[in-house]
Amino acid sequence: MYDCVICRYHEIATKGNNRNMFEKCLVDNIRHAMRAVDFKMKVRRIRGRVWIEPENGGTFPEDILRAVENILKDVFGLESFSPAKLLTVDMDDIRNTALDMAEKVFGGFAGSEKPHFRVRARRSNKRFPLTSKDIEIDLVTALAGRVGSDVFKIDLSDDADITLGVEVRDEFSLVYFDTFRGPGGLPVGSNPRVLTLLSGGIDSPVAAWQIMKRGSATDYLTFHSSPYTPPETVDKVRGIAAELNRFQRKGRLFVANLAEFQKAVRDNCAERMRTVLYRRAMFRIAEMVALREDCKAIVTGEALGQVASQTVANMDTINRAIDMLVLRPLVGADKLEAIAVAERIGTMKLSSVQVPDSCTVFAPSSPATSVPVDLALKEEAKIPGYAQILQKIVDDIEINA
Ligand code: ATP
Ligand code: MG
Repeated sequence: MYDCVICRYHEIATKGNNRNMFEKCLVDNIRHAMRAVDFKMKVRRIRGRVWIEPENGGTFPEDILRAVENILKDVFGLESFSPAKLLTVDMDDIRNTALDMAEKVFGGFAGSEKPHFRVRARRSNKRFPLTSKDIEIDLVTALAGRVGSDVFKIDLSDDADITLGVEVRDEFSLVYFDTFRGPGGLPVGSNPRVLTLLSGGIDSPVAAWQIMKRGSATDYLTFHSSPYTPPETVDKVRGIAAELNRFQRKGRLFVANLAEFQKAVRDNCAERMRTVLYRRAMFRIAEMVALREDCKAIVTGEALGQVASQTVANMDTINRAIDMLVLRPLVGADKLEAIAVAERIGTMKLSSVQVPDSCTVFAPSSPATSVPVDLALKEEAKIPGYAQILQKIVDDIEINA
């Protein structure tokens, strides 16, 4: 019964001069996301809303509407959306259609008690003869006349089971029943591209998601240590990257083999410092890739205090290996909070599969929790051809599109 889906956004509407860019980005992203549905649609922006309609008019088939709803739930920048019926600016038209639709919705109500019902009307068309309140009273009264006043209970709160939404605008009006929440945030692409250090763990996929939510598309860089880690180590990350790409246009996965560097650290440096030295090298390689690929920041899933390499002292020493901005959206998150997001975005299951991690190759039994930067530099100076080893790793990176 619906001939459009109306999409609402909040935050981007407040962005002043950038508003146009943000809206265009949102429309582009919705258009792109809709390509996954086998149904021709047009997506337009009209006065602070985005509209999705069947390309050739008519209504949405039910299964197509479900697919559209599923996709929109993951489009960053959207606050909410509603499948709606487009009508003329005429109270008789609104009333007749709303009552027909309400009858169907009441018929399908599955609760054991009678449904709590409300009407929420908005009128941006100030020439319309009825106020919002008038419209609400008109519709409730008419509905009671049609189905009987004992069929529902008026409930103006947000707990109402059924909300009839009405919007009267200058050129048209809208009637709808369902309002779904979008994920909020900013449209992906409204901030510069970044590079996420993606491991097979729980945290880094969540970090990537949070950065996409704030408008940056991301590529991914993962490290393995073949032959000391099996091919499954990279397969797992490939699966996670694919899952994350539901939230953006395909980000590329760069795959780097850290083993040569790790061997050099094993053979030349103090055992307790290995982890910090690995991570400084990871950052340096990430910076080289980011500069080459025009990514403007590096993203990690680091959380303060989580492991020995994530103490303030070690994070500082690791950070000083590079100049580029490092974004750490999880720095203040507890593991349980990260897990909750990972469940929601569909990466938890993939992250839970146990495979060997690159960081654990030749890992010290008791890693140092505080490596001053001058000490790290001293250890690195012991590695013959440090820069060349890293350059070779970068040159050998594989791109897993
Ligand atoms: P995660 O759950 O994301 O693996 P973690 O809690 O296991 O994080 P670490 O292993 O210390 O923590 O890693 C911290 C961050 O460093 C990760 O979130 C990720 O951004 C990056 N990282 C760690 N290992 C790798 C790897 N093998 N490849 C790419 N990035 C990595
Ligand atoms: Mg990890």
